[in-house]
Amino acid sequence: MKHDVVIVGGAVHGASAAYHLALAGVTDVLLVEKDPTFRFAATALSAGSIRQQFSTAINIAISLFGIAFLRTVGDRLEVDGERPEIGLKEGGYLFLATAAGAATLAANHALQVGLGADIAHLDPVGLRATFPWLATEGIAAGCFGRSGEGWFDGYALMRGLRRKAVALGAKTLTAEVAAIEHDGARATGVRLADGSRIAAGTIIVTAGPTTARLLSPLGVGLPVEAKKRMVFTFACRTPLPRFPLLIDPTGVYARPEGELYICGAAPPADRDPEAADFEVDHGFFEEAIWPVLAARVPAFEAIGPGGAWAGHYDMNLFDHNAIVGPVEGIAGLLIAVGFSGHGLQQAPAVGRGLSELVTKGRYTSLDLSPLGHDRIRGNRPLHEANVV
Ligand SMILES: Cc1cc2nc3c(=O)[nH]c(=O)nc-3n(C[C@H](O)[C@H](O)[C@H](O)COP(=O)(O)OP(=O)(O)OC[C@H]3O[C@@H](n4cnc5c(N)ncnc54)[C@H](O)[C@@H]3O)c2cc1C
Repeated sequence: MKHDVVIVGGAVHGASAAYHLALAGVTDVLLVEKDPTFRFAATALSAGSIRQQFSTAINIAISLFGIAFLRTVGDRLEVDGERPEIGLKEGGYLFLATAAGAATLAANHALQVGLGADIAHLDPVGLRATFPWLATEGIAAGCFGRSGEGWFDGYALMRGLRRKAVALGAKTLTAEVAAIEHDGARATGVRLADGSRIAAGTIIVTAGPTTARLLSPLGVGLPVEAKKRMVFTFACRTPLPRFPLLIDPTGVYARPEGELYICGAAPPADRDPEAADFEVDHGFFEEAIWPVLAARVPAFEAIGPGGAWAGHYDMNLFDHNAIVGPVEGIAGLLIAVGFSGHGLQQAPAVGRGLSELVTKGRYTSLDLSPLGHDRIRGNRPLHEANVV
């Protein structure tokens, strides 16, 4: 078997790359996915949210394209009159800062607005007027996305991208890739777990945290590790109008999800080992999340806890930003990994960028080279401060 492009990992990034390639006329694309249930894929376990409130210009530009794509997803991904429903709700993010974080919040706000994001900077009076249910003790300022930020069904986005890619001519295969084959200078194909081989002109690896393991035998070390992040649900009877995706200065977040709320937080660094399972620690909600939420939103003192799940971030330990594009030293090999918890919203722009690299040899719309692998080898971190 031989294909122009073989994509390893068929969740949202693989699907977006396949869709954009097929759209550009490259239809000899094989999308290889080991688990068609996507049970453990971050895409299926995500909090499904999009924001422009980043500290890095490239991430803001990526999400500005992301929201434009999501708003028009029905038109873009329609197949045989069926339009994917991703349930986009532009409820906004609300980042809160204490006095210690106020200058950083203001600097990030200036960057975001300068790039065209619709973000309001609010003092405590403005915060209380806009969100009367919010306790502003200890808060110096907040930034709220008036439009262009919110949440959506990431699984439905992935399904829509896959379906459209296939409708345009891409092929899918259920199989596990055991190794990337190469001749020292160039990637030549993949070997599957059953021993069979598939040759490829270009290989794109979008296999989440597994990407690092697949590249390691090629002598490529990626600073990417799986980190467990838990999402808890709860109910609150008090109506809280215009509840956004609220981010407390501690990093604890909550947002509406239908009639319920979802919430989460990163564990302290010394309790954040490489993830080995998907078990939920319910004590984390009781000890670390609920007390913070109840202090920030007094109506949350009386809540009904619900279910919970855990997924894995493909965390880039180097600078908390994605690593996208050619792998240094190995021709014909592209990657998109290390999304550090903000990768779902980046799938439209990153898939488009990967497709441009294959079809034109360079980025022609949004230049994603600041996220290139060369920054790792050259020790030039591009730190993202707003990692949720
Ligand atoms: C709890 C949680 C909350 C999140 N919240 C947000 C959010 O609000 N907003 C946001 O933008 N992002 C969020 N993210 C991050 C986002 O979900 C991910 O960045 C994104 O889904 C990554 O997509 P992916 O396609 O690169 O990887 P994945 O979704 O991890 O998919 C990788 C795929 O590769 C397959 N695979 C792996 N190895 C092989 C192999 N050897 N052969 C074949 N197939 C293979 C896997 O089965 C899997 O389907 C969150 C993540 C988690 C875990």
